[in-house]
Amino acid sequence: MSEEITKEIEDLPGVGPATAEKLRSASITDLMEIAVSSPSELAELADISESLAAKAIRGAREAADVGGFETGDVIFQRRKSLKKLTTNSSKLDELLGGGLETGSITELYGAFASGKTQLMHQLCVNVQLKEDEGGLGRETVYIDTENTFRPERVSQMALALGMDPSEVLKRIHVARAFNSNHQMLLMDSVSDLSKECSIGILIVDSLTAHFRAEYAGRGALANRQQKLNKYMHSLLRFGDLNSCVIAVTNQVQAQPDAFFGDPTRPIGGHIVGHTATYRVYLRRSKGEHRIARLVDSPCLPEGEAIFRITQEGVGD
Ligand code: ADP
Ligand code: MG
Repeated sequence: MSEEITKEIEDLPGVGPATAEKLRSASITDLMEIAVSSPSELAELADISESLAAKAIRGAREAADVGGFETGDVIFQRRKSLKKLTTNSSKLDELLGGGLETGSITELYGAFASGKTQLMHQLCVNVQLKEDEGGLGRETVYIDTENTFRPERVSQMALALGMDPSEVLKRIHVARAFNSNHQMLLMDSVSDLSKECSIGILIVDSLTAHFRAEYAGRGALANRQQKLNKYMHSLLRFGDLNSCVIAVTNQVQAQPDAFFGDPTRPIGGHIVGHTATYRVYLRRSKGEHRIARLVDSPCLPEGEAIFRITQEGVGD
């Protein structure tokens, strides 16, 4: 779908080099983003007149071919090309309708030590398996915001699957993100990298930790949500463009003050929730057991699966 976008923003009616520059400095770099904006929103973001914004939007809509209808069977055909990445637990895969879906964002949220990072490590390995083994035969990008990526752990998991750990590690591209701004900027490097190798999964562990720490207090909430929204959309676009899995982790909100509040609410609220296609809540059970609950999905029933985390990694 996205490959059909051949035009640059300079090619839009009324957009010269100066306006293109304004759009780019507002991080508006592709036609789809313009096509789905409203004139007032675009005018404000890029500091241009509303009439110019409206003109550009009309052009972008034509070029990006949005606003038209497709019949269900066409969408059905396209969805058939989506692939599923195994978690290495057949129960968890089943809960997810076969595994993590390409082109979508899967959010795994849960308390400390619920197994989010372990699962991300397992996915780094699994994505390198062949398609008939539940993998995608492709490489990993891992955005590490909490400094918890451990090659040793990847090696253990690779060995357990009969893979060569050093070969597996060579196909995992890890970047530390030092703050939320850096985390967002890294998307440019990720795009560059995706031109050199075939990325099957983009992992962000954790999606929200920096945002939560930096935008504390009620006054900062709107700003935080706006940034998170933009970031989520850049992730989604990357997943769509590269037909890869996007897996992000999220913490749960501690609510010491809220007696009636849901203590299992993920950070980022509606913004994250509406952009993630699959939301999975992880919690600890006895010993090495973990419980995953599918919380939100467009076409799968809610349900739970029990899996284990052992020395060998994730399994049933
Ligand atoms: P979080 O949800 O905070 O990211 P993690 O994914 O880091 O949590 O999970 C940490 C837990 O994973 C540990 O408490 C332990 O139960 C389990 N774990 C970590 N490493 C191993 C290992 N080598 N063997 C078995 N279990 C492990
Ligand atoms: Mg973690």
